[in-house]
Parts: sequence; C-alpha cells; structure tokens
Amino acid sequence: MVTGASRGLGRAIAEEYLRAGADVVVNYNRTPVDELLSLATELGRRAVAVQADVASAADCERIVETAVKEFGKIDILVNNAGITRDGLLMRMDEEAWDTVITTNLKSVFACSRAASKHMMRARSGSIINISSVAGIMGNAGQTNYAASKAGIIGFTKSLARELAGRGVRVNAIAPGFITSDMTNVLGEKVREAVLQEIPMGRFGEPSDIAGAALYLASPLANYVTGTVLVVDGGMSM
Ligand code: NAP
Repeated sequence: MVTGASRGLGRAIAEEYLRAGADVVVNYNRTPVDELLSLATELGRRAVAVQADVASAADCERIVETAVKEFGKIDILVNNAGITRDGLLMRMDEEAWDTVITTNLKSVFACSRAASKHMMRARSGSIINISSVAGIMGNAGQTNYAASKAGIIGFTKSLARELAGRGVRVNAIAPGFITSDMTNVLGEKVREAVLQEIPMGRFGEPSDIAGAALYLASPLANYVTGTVLVVDGGMSM
C-alpha cells in the first residue's frame, strides 16, 4: 500500500513495486491514477485505487481495510503522502501549521496503526515512512514541514522498537531535493542555490527514492529496522 501514489515519489514507488512483482493498493486524493492501473494490467499485476484523504484517520483505516479485503493481507506500507505550506514562522498561520502536521504526520500514525494490526498478526511486514532531510537539518521557511518530518523520524524509531519482536520492520527514508511537483514550484534562484549544496551535482529523481523503498521492503533489508536511509546525493552529510 502506497499513500499519495498519484504523482512524484509515491507514483515512482508504486511503479517500482509493480515491476518487482507486487500487487499494490494505490491511494490518491485528487489526481487520478489511471496510468498506474493500466501499467499493472500490462505487467500482469493487480493495482487497486483508493481515493482517500490521509489527513483523516478514518480514511487511512479505509485504505488499509481495502488492501486486506482485496489481497487478504498487507505486507508493505509506504507512508508517502505529504504537502508543504511554506512561510517564515512570523507569517505562518495556525491553519498552515495544522494542515501540514495533520497531512504529513498524523497520517503516518493513522495508517501505521491500522496496518500494523494485520502485520503483527502475520508476524511479518515492512513499514516505510517518507521523511525528509528537512527533518534532520531544518530549513528556513519550513518550520511546519520540518517538524512533521522530524516527527516521522521519532515515530519510526519508536514504532520500530514496539514491533521489532513481532517480525515487523519500520524504517524511514529521508530524501534530499527530488524533482517533482513539490520542488518544481520553487524559483530558479532557490534551485540553483540548492544545487550548489549537492556533492553529486544533480537533483534526485523519484526513481532514486523508489530504489531505496524497494530495498527496505525486500528481504535484502531483513535485519534493518529503525533506520533513516538518507537519499540526497550527499547534500546533508
Ligand atoms: P508531490 O509531487 O507534491 O506529490 C504529493 C502526493 O501526495 C500526491 O500523490 C498527492 O495526491 C498526495 N497527497 C497530498 N495530500 C494528500 C492527502 N491529504 N491525502 C492523500 N494523498 C495526498 O510530492 P512529492 O515530491 O512526490 O513528495 C512525496 C513525499 O516525499 C512527501 O511526503 C514529501 O514530503 C516527501 N519528500 C519530497 C521531497 C522532494 O524533494 N520532492 C524531498 C523530501 C521529502 P493528489 O495528487 O491526489 O493530491
């Protein structure tokens, strides 16, 4: 199950999983996921689309229950859906704070709570939470976003400790600057300045994150839990 699978990183992750042979529940909020559904058919896999707003705990539960109903179980949960509402703290209103924290962080709580129930019963599962280097380094103009992403890291490590003995692994990925609708809105000057900070000399692609998500979901990561995998071309080291 991948939340926010209609665009950007979530879509690339869902695609990577389909190509690796998984059946996938793809959540979206506003953007249809028809192309992913067609790709699944082409690959001989099943993809089930669920429209839901992850800011609502009831909606998160509904996505998980759909996955279990359609496939009989849930092996992998990727908490990817996320938004930004940037602005300096002095000008940030309560709504911009609440919306970002609810969409980015409460969703991780609600989807993980719903999915881990089934994973614990199966004594197997992998939860992957998409954080950000902003949650590690901080970023001016993103107090709400960075707080949500740092919160995800604390959540990941705590839940990893809770579930380690139950066969369920919980990890986070902290992407750097990845080309997507989220970063395309930033001005040329900002993009140039960020590029200067990336030792590898390029922005990341959604497929770079999909590779990390495939690894963490796979048996190759069988002994990996509670970790934050930074995928940023060296930006935050
Ligand atoms: P994006 O291109 O803006 O895509 C965001 C995705 O999240 C869309 O599929 C969107 O669905 C979905 N979404 C947003 N609000 C939702 C809601 N309330 N309920 C359900 N789905 C919702 O962003 P992205 O760059 O792919 O980012 C994906 C994740 O990676 C986010 O958590 C982001 O914070 C994180 N991240 C991104 C970067 C980067 O450089 N791009 C860096 C670090 C971390 P709809 O289209 O249907 O609204």
